[in-house]
Amino acid sequence: MIDLRSDTVTQPTPEMKKAIADAELGDDVFGDDPTVNRLEAVVAERLGKEASVFVTSGTQSNLCALLAHCGRGDEFIVGDSAHTYRWEGGGGAVLGGIQPQPVPMMADGLPDPAAIAGAVKPKDDHFARTRLLCIENTKDGNVQSVARMHEAVAVGRANGLAVHLDGARMWNAAVALGIDGAELTAGFDSVSMCLSKGLGAPAGSVLSGSAALIEEARHWRKMMGGGLRQAGVLAAAGLYALEHNIDRLADDHRRAASIAAGLAAIEGVAVAQNSNMIFVDIEDAPADLQERVNTAGVTALISRRDGSSSIRLVTHLGISDDDVATVVDAFAAAMG
Ligand SMILES: *Cc1c(COP(=O)(O)O)cnc(C)c1O
Repeated sequence: MIDLRSDTVTQPTPEMKKAIADAELGDDVFGDDPTVNRLEAVVAERLGKEASVFVTSGTQSNLCALLAHCGRGDEFIVGDSAHTYRWEGGGGAVLGGIQPQPVPMMADGLPDPAAIAGAVKPKDDHFARTRLLCIENTKDGNVQSVARMHEAVAVGRANGLAVHLDGARMWNAAVALGIDGAELTAGFDSVSMCLSKGLGAPAGSVLSGSAALIEEARHWRKMMGGGLRQAGVLAAAGLYALEHNIDRLADDHRRAASIAAGLAAIEGVAVAQNSNMIFVDIEDAPADLQERVNTAGVTALISRRDGSSSIRLVTHLGISDDDVATVVDAFAAAMG
């Protein structure tokens, strides 16, 4: 099956499995796992931050950041469709007593700077204390420029806020822009990046920031059950991914563009593509579209409403150039 549901579906390659098998291990809760320590040092260096902490997932990474930046009764400003707001179970509110203040997002996936400034609450006993601004890059595959990142950081700073970057797919943005990680993440107080999406590792994310912030995040990670022991088996995959799987993200972007171009040629199909993500809207799609493309060996996220179908396809290291034609043909055949 050509699986385009997400870039989280990748399997570790034989080379990555060898790196896992060869990893030197220790007990990371004691700070003794040399492979985890190396991963944390490498990520901190690549992002130009003082320190990093390896965490189980992107959700745990963002939650550790929220808890490290904000206390009970504090508030974070976040775009109203951002992952940290919509897709993480309200963890900051559940575990930290932290209130989200959602604001409208602009078409490129950044919160409107004017809305950010307008949402900051004055110092007054009535209000939650606004502490943090959360930004996402890429957002639904949208790559935001360094200038837009600087602008977001500046708006946060001007309003006395810390600024967090949910960079689950930040390397897709860096590769698309042709810049290094540190340039993309400059100015952010904390940055979360996923190893288990486009980078192809089986699990794990890394949160980076100042030494003091990461020390605090480490405390919350342990409390949330994220203190792993011989976690070097996972960190080794992460180190392998950082070394071998970043530049190749350009292939994912190129293949996504080819799939998008192929799909756009089908009648009644509207296509948008950004970095490794493709969003397709089809009016009057057959009700059994999913089954039809499955039969042709393709799977994607397909949702249906009022007779029209919305489809998300994501390219990743398990998708080859040959797969591109198969995917386009599958949808063309399914549409009759
Ligand atoms: C996937 C994702 C996360 C969460 O990562 P998990 O590892 O699935 O918990 C956070 N933010 C963004 C933007 C993501 O795409």
